[in-house]
Amino acid sequence: MTWEPVIGCEIHVHLKTQTKMFCRCATGFGAPENSSTCPVCLAHPGVLPVPNERAIEWTIKLGLALGCDIAPRAVFHRKNYFYPDNPKGYQISQYDEPLCMSGSFLLPGVGGDTEIGIVRAHLEEDAAKNVHMGGGEGRIHGADRTLVDFNRAGMPLVEIVTQPHLRSSEQTKRFLQLLRQTVRELGISDAEMQEGSMRFDVNVSVRPEGSDELRTRTELKNINSFNFAAQGIEREIQRQIAIYEGGGEVVQETLHFVPGQEHAAPLRSKEEAQDYRYLPEPDLVPIEPPAEMVEQARAELGELPSARIRRLETELDFGLAEGLVTSGRDGLYERTPGDRRAVANVVMNELAAAGLDPTEVNGEELGKLVEARDRIPREAFMKALGASGDGDFKAEDYLGEAVIADESELDPVIERILAANDENVAAYRAGKQGLLGFFVGQVMKETGGKADPKVVNTRLRELLDRS
Ligand SMILES: [Zn+2]
Repeated sequence: MTWEPVIGCEIHVHLKTQTKMFCRCATGFGAPENSSTCPVCLAHPGVLPVPNERAIEWTIKLGLALGCDIAPRAVFHRKNYFYPDNPKGYQISQYDEPLCMSGSFLLPGVGGDTEIGIVRAHLEEDAAKNVHMGGGEGRIHGADRTLVDFNRAGMPLVEIVTQPHLRSSEQTKRFLQLLRQTVRELGISDAEMQEGSMRFDVNVSVRPEGSDELRTRTELKNINSFNFAAQGIEREIQRQIAIYEGGGEVVQETLHFVPGQEHAAPLRSKEEAQDYRYLPEPDLVPIEPPAEMVEQARAELGELPSARIRRLETELDFGLAEGLVTSGRDGLYERTPGDRRAVANVVMNELAAAGLDPTEVNGEELGKLVEARDRIPREAFMKALGASGDGDFKAEDYLGEAVIADESELDPVIERILAANDENVAAYRAGKQGLLGFFVGQVMKETGGKADPKVVNTRLRELLDRS
């Protein structure tokens, strides 16, 4: 039997507002533990939450980018649960009336586009951070004590929930990468996985190909790398197929994916929604976003990354178009005149390898450099590329050094080197062909790296073989 994976994602994104969701404590990564707290986010008795308007605007903007309907009325609820990182005993979140619903996200692919349905995107506050100490490699299993950092408590968090429309680990990884780039371009989050400002949970099930049933799914929690997501999904797909083929049943559970470890460890069996005893937050009125706020956000959207991939793949192949857009390099590509494929390759490969920030590179000057790429020595090209992020970079400063490909210029140099190394010449002629590299090196050194290595190779062979 052929099996079809059915994959859905929940993505959490920290909004990079200046202050937290319901109090005026500063947000930000890297502050000393418990230095950014107040009675509201520490849940002292009698305090009142005040919503962050900017967080609401940004969630609307994200919802529009995901093709969602913006609710005329959204309600904050209390999601009740006990945990040390949650001093109120509940989290303020949105439940049955979220800000954004019923979206559709376009995922371009080699074989055409896929519409990934978005169930909802809602706004909530993050919990504090538990820091597990003493063994267990930072995880609760094996730790002997836990410290709580409340800096993260109350940070604005958007949760995006997709339909189970993804069909492979590779497609899921590409979806997550494109979603991350979209979020970053909207300017609402750094979406840095290392800092935890973007993390995702993935639901996986399998079914016989061609069927439309939804079988029991398992959930991989708190993944913070695209590669881990892909590995974890792939492993889970294979595990579930093996269970069904062995006549067993998949159990609904939450798994903690550990890279390099054979099996994901079960974390807990999945709670049902009613376990949380959701109730409308009595301290907050419903949000009714004004039409102007929604229209303003819509006007600010610009051309989204998925649309740009579709546009660029008409002049490049899909892989290059997707790579440029998801790495945030297509802006430079579009500012740089010249042969499209040559420009795309330089921007995607050499410039990226040189570690340059693409937003700082002058496209016009880079275009001149790409155009001259085959006429100037490789060393000069790389040196120019390395300097191309400087504000006063001028390509012409580096174009003066032409490659020496003219035999009449190279022959005297070659003859001089052969005359000065007669022992090596004799050894070469006696059969030590490997010495050719030595002679090439000498010519390159003599010409300051400007000689065309292809011409040097050819001329050296001709002159050495003429005994
Ligand atoms: Zn606070």
